[in-house]
Amino acid sequence: MNKKEYVFILGSYACDKKCPYCIAKMNKNNTESFEKEFEKLKKTLQEYKNKKITFNNFILSGNGETSLYKIEELKKIKDLVEETKIFTDYRIQTSGNLFGEKEKLELFSNWIKEVTVISSNSKEDQDFYKYKIAYLKSKEFIKTERVRVNIVVTNENLLKINKYISDYSKMPNIETIALKILDNSNNNSTESKWVEEHAFKHNKINELLELITEENKFITFKNKRFVFKTKEDKLLTIHYSEKNTYDGINITNSFKWHKKEIKKGIYGELSKVEEELAEAKDALEQNNTLMYLIELSDIVGAVEGIIEKHGLSLEEIITFSDKVKESKQYE
Ligand code: SF4
Repeated sequence: MNKKEYVFILGSYACDKKCPYCIAKMNKNNTESFEKEFEKLKKTLQEYKNKKITFNNFILSGNGETSLYKIEELKKIKDLVEETKIFTDYRIQTSGNLFGEKEKLELFSNWIKEVTVISSNSKEDQDFYKYKIAYLKSKEFIKTERVRVNIVVTNENLLKINKYISDYSKMPNIETIALKILDNSNNNSTESKWVEEHAFKHNKINELLELITEENKFITFKNKRFVFKTKEDKLLTIHYSEKNTYDGINITNSFKWHKKEIKKGIYGELSKVEEELAEAKDALEQNNTLMYLIELSDIVGAVEGIIEKHGLSLEEIITFSDKVKESKQYE
């Protein structure tokens, strides 16, 4: 069984950036000490390995900046994760500080380094996030292979998005570009209020898609992501989902996509189909066609989970269903 992404969030809130929408501060995530979290991670990964569950990506994230952890701690995680051999690829999220930490940067040379930006102009980005070292124009950033750039979409930078995509796409070291639509926890925090006022909203996705397709080629919609190719043939994605779509995460997200309380199902059991069906009904009630279609694709995914448990594939069941339809023509 191949799942999508496993996210491990380090607990410390220490960070050199001041994002006005800081997701960790907005959600007030509670996590344990490094040692406790590491032990939990070790146990969880072993359980996945025993069940032969694999993931496309391991993502090392943080309530704060990951590269502020000691190199010994980062190495412990890296070694553990790579040794389990249940991940196809690895990503580390950084404020950009990693590019100023030679030893740590080398440690993660085979991992994708993921940075989040608001602009392709170094000064504009620095002024917005209020960090001290202009890493975007540093030779370490420009020369480091395997970089992913997440561009946050706001009401203010929307019309410059194609320029930013093009600028980053032309950089040889940038592997992937992703547009980030911020989630709002809708609480009373300063961060939530900032998101409400400035962030581009999920319900305007069609506007964004139209803009992006002016200069980039639409490829597909898969795993809740719109996938494009830029002119330079770089992968460009837009993650369209306000709910936690990670298959493994060591915290719970508090933002909500659905208006109703929907009981969580278990992947591989009928309860997951029931959960997705309830979400599709809720999307219909909200009159949100795009969300409805996404939920329908989730129903297919939930059914696939059950089928796999019985040692069959979705394709085999579709062939069987076609045969049933064919035989009904003669009834
Ligand atoms: S880089 Fe991450 S942790 Fe740091 S302020 Fe921004 S969102 Fe918060």
